[in-house]
This record gives sequence, C-alpha cells and structure tokens, in this order.
Amino acid sequence: MFEIVFLGTSASAPSVRRGLSAHVVKHNEYRFLVDCGEGTQRQILQSGLGFKRLNRVLITHGHLDHILGLAGLFSTLSRWETIEDIEIMGGKWALERIEALLYGVRVIPPGKKTNINLKLREVQAGIIFDEDDFTITAFPVSHRGPDCFGYIFEERARRPFLPEKADALGVPAGPLRRDLVNGQAVTLADGGVVQPEDVLGPQIPGTRYVHVGDTGRTDNILAACRGADTLVIEATYLEEEAQMAHDFAHLTAAQAAQLAHDAGVQQLILTHISRRYRERDVVAEARAIFPNTVVARDFDVFQVRRGECVKVEPEKK
Ligand SMILES: [Zn+2]
Ligand SMILES: [Zn+2]
Repeated sequence: MFEIVFLGTSASAPSVRRGLSAHVVKHNEYRFLVDCGEGTQRQILQSGLGFKRLNRVLITHGHLDHILGLAGLFSTLSRWETIEDIEIMGGKWALERIEALLYGVRVIPPGKKTNINLKLREVQAGIIFDEDDFTITAFPVSHRGPDCFGYIFEERARRPFLPEKADALGVPAGPLRRDLVNGQAVTLADGGVVQPEDVLGPQIPGTRYVHVGDTGRTDNILAACRGADTLVIEATYLEEEAQMAHDFAHLTAAQAAQLAHDAGVQQLILTHISRRYRERDVVAEARAIFPNTVVARDFDVFQVRRGECVKVEPEKK
C-alpha cells in the first residue's frame, strides 16, 4: 500500500486554498517528499506529518513552483538535529538549480558542516530505488526544460503462501515454512522434499502508483502509466484554453483523462490546478472522459492498494 498526502495542489502560484506542488508518498516506514514548492514546510506542519524520516526527496523538474520550498525547509532542518541525512533525487537540470538555491544564497554555507549531510543524486531513466518490497522507477517526461521525470512506485509481485497446502503436505509451522516462502525447497522429518511451488499460489502483481509532475505530452508516457492503480498528474488547463496548454507544455483536464482511459488506470487524481478555473469545471471535463477522476485538494490523503484507491482522514495533528 502507498499513501499519498497532498501538501500543495496549485499551479505556478499559490491560491488562498492551494499551496504549491508538494506531496508525501509513504510506504511502510519509508517517506518520500515529491516536489517541494514554496511554503512546503508549513504545509508539512499543518498536515500533521512532521519532519521525521522525511529524508528522501524526489523532484519532477526544476521549475521554481516545484523546488523553491527546499530553501526554507533546509534552513529550518539545518538548525535541528532530527534528520542526519537527506537525499535529493532529480534530473540534472533540476539538481543544478537546487544546488544554486541551497548553496548560492548560502542556506547551507559552502564547506561548512551542518547537521544535515545533503546528497544530490542525479536521476536517469530506470530503477532509482530498490529496497524492502518495492521499487521506484524514473521515466522521462516532456515539459519545458530538460531532464523532467515521472516516477513509478511499485510493490514487488509476490506469490502468497497457502497454509492449507502446507498442512496437507505435512510441513510443520516454523522455519521450514519460512524457507519455502523464501523460495527454498525443504526436507521433512520423513525425508520427503517439498518445493516452494507446492505451497505458493499464483503470482499477484504489486500495487502500482504513478506520479507525473508537469508535462506537455501524454503519448510518450502512456507505457509508464499503463495499469496504474492510481495516476497522479497535472491538469493545469481546460480544453477551452488547449492552445495555451500546448504553448506552455501543460495538459488540459481532458488530455489527462484521455491518458488515464488509454492507459487503463484504476483511479485518476488531478493536481497542479490553476486559479483561473473552478474545481468543478476541471472535474466535469475529466469525468466526461474518465469517470473515476478526483481533483486533489491540499491535505487530502489517499491510500492506494492493488485495484483500489480510497480517500482517508488525515493523521491527527
Ligand atoms: Zn509547475
Ligand atoms: Zn513546470
């Protein structure tokens, strides 16, 4: 299961109700901050998430509405000792701008040791994170400026253990069953050998969550979005301003919905919403093409599992 906390859902500039792009994606004890627009640290506080274990940052691209909050966040974190290491992952262009932001204006004085060990890691297309029971895969996205990326969070496929089969074969509870789950054949007390295939069910695919920041095209990300349990993507414009969407390399709500339809995703969540539109008009345009669409609001929390996405109450502050 992946949990997504929307911290900022506005495009380009904040509005009264919407902050700039920022999200936290949680899985087990892992937390990823995805983009960090201006004001994100206050949104983190208000969401009740807190800063603990927020030591991995993924950046979709280098535009200011997705990175400017890093300066404020680091200024605060460098005064505390709650986080020792932070890794920021993003494309080359985004990292150059982040480096200039954090070191150029001396949020972190060059050469000076701070409480935080900051690591900037350049992302290339492919698997960028592989730990525990899930992976994150980066894929290229076409937007203004180079090195823009979307991210696929995916749990590993697994084969469930079938206790009734183990019982029938006389495998006792305990270490032998664990070995079978880990893919090892075991020998029973009577000398009989049991193979993992004998007690494991058919493979079940893991939950797949796809996160796209700003993009002007959908055709070249169709494959990455295919079969997603949930797709989060921008919808900066409506069709009435499709030309403007094209000129600024953004999507209309209808284009995002068409992508969700073509890619066969379960749930579409739209974000990066412009102040020029009413939310209900964005929803209506998208739902006419892909009914299973919602528009995210700041502090919305969604839990994504295989085949389902449910909105849940935020954590207690
Ligand atoms: Zn943006
Ligand atoms: Zn952008």
